[in-house]
Amino acid sequence: MKVVTSVAGMKALARQWKKEGKKVGFVPTMGYLHEGHLSLVRESKKRADITVVSIFVNPTQFGPNEDFKKYPRDLEKDSAYLEKGGVDCLFYPDAAEIYPPGYRTYVEVRGLQDRLCGKSRPGHFQAVATVVLKLFDIVGPGLAFFGAKDAQQVLIIGKMAADLDLDTEVVTCPLVRDPDGLALSSRNAYLSPEERKAALVLSISLRWAERAIAAGERDAAKAIAGIRAAIEAEPLARVDYVEAVDPVNLEPLAEICGDVLIALAVFVGSTRLIDNIRLHV
Ligand code: AMP
Repeated sequence: MKVVTSVAGMKALARQWKKEGKKVGFVPTMGYLHEGHLSLVRESKKRADITVVSIFVNPTQFGPNEDFKKYPRDLEKDSAYLEKGGVDCLFYPDAAEIYPPGYRTYVEVRGLQDRLCGKSRPGHFQAVATVVLKLFDIVGPGLAFFGAKDAQQVLIIGKMAADLDLDTEVVTCPLVRDPDGLALSSRNAYLSPEERKAALVLSISLRWAERAIAAGERDAAKAIAGIRAAIEAEPLARVDYVEAVDPVNLEPLAEICGDVLIALAVFVGSTRLIDNIRLHV
C-alpha cells in the first residue's frame, strides 16, 4: 500500500492512474477505522481498479466545543487494517497541506446543510462539503463511497457532485451495526461500559418506530414522541434531535408516507451519537 502525505504526490499518482485508464474508487474517512469503513473499502474494491482511502481529521468541521483534539487516532493500526483490506493507497495529509496559510474558499449546499445535524453543528456541513470537494479534486475518483450512517452527509455530497457536474459518482453503502444493534462509529470508543449499554437506546427506539409504522402508525409526531420517550427513559441519554424527514430535501414530514428518513442525534454522557433508518411506506 502506498502512503502519500502531500497533495502534489497524490495528484501525480492520480494523473498516472488516469493515463493508464484505471478507475479510482475513493473512501474518505477520519480514521480510527472499523468494520463500517471496511465495508466501503470492500465495495470500492468490487467496483474500481484502484482503491484510495484518505484519513484526515478535518479541523474545520468541528465546532469550538467539539471533540477535534480528543478525536481518536491510531495511524499504525489503521494502516495495518487498510493494508490487510487490500487498499492500494492511503492519503494522509496534515491540516497545513489541505489548508495552507490564507485559505479562504468554502462550498455550501444551501437548504440541506442547515437541517438535522446542521442545526446543532453550524458550519459543519459547509466544512465537510469543502474538504470532500478538495479531496475529490486531489484524488480524481470515478467513484466515491459513503456510509448511510451519515445520511445527511452523503445526501449533501451527492447534491454537491450533481450541482457542480463532478466526474465522481457518489455511492451510498449500508449502515453497519454491531450484533446488538449499535451503529459502528469511531466515537463509540469514548463510551464507558455503562454508556455503551445505554447507547443501545438509539437503535432500539428506531426499531420500535419501524415496528409501529409497520403496524400502521402514520402520524410522524406520534412516532417521534415514542422515540423521544424511549430515549428520555434512559438516564445516561439526552436527545439532541429526532426527526422524520423527506430523504431528498430533509423537510420534516407530518405524515409517514412514501420515502421516509427517521434520523436522530443523542448525547450518551458527553458523546454525541447519530443513527437513522430509511423506510418506504
Ligand atoms: P468517518 O471516519 O466517521 O468520517 O466516516 C467515514 C465514512 O465511513 C463515512 O462515509 C461514514 O458514513 C462511513 N461510516 C462510518 N460509520 C459507518 C457505519 N457504521 N456503517 C457504514 N458506514 C459508516
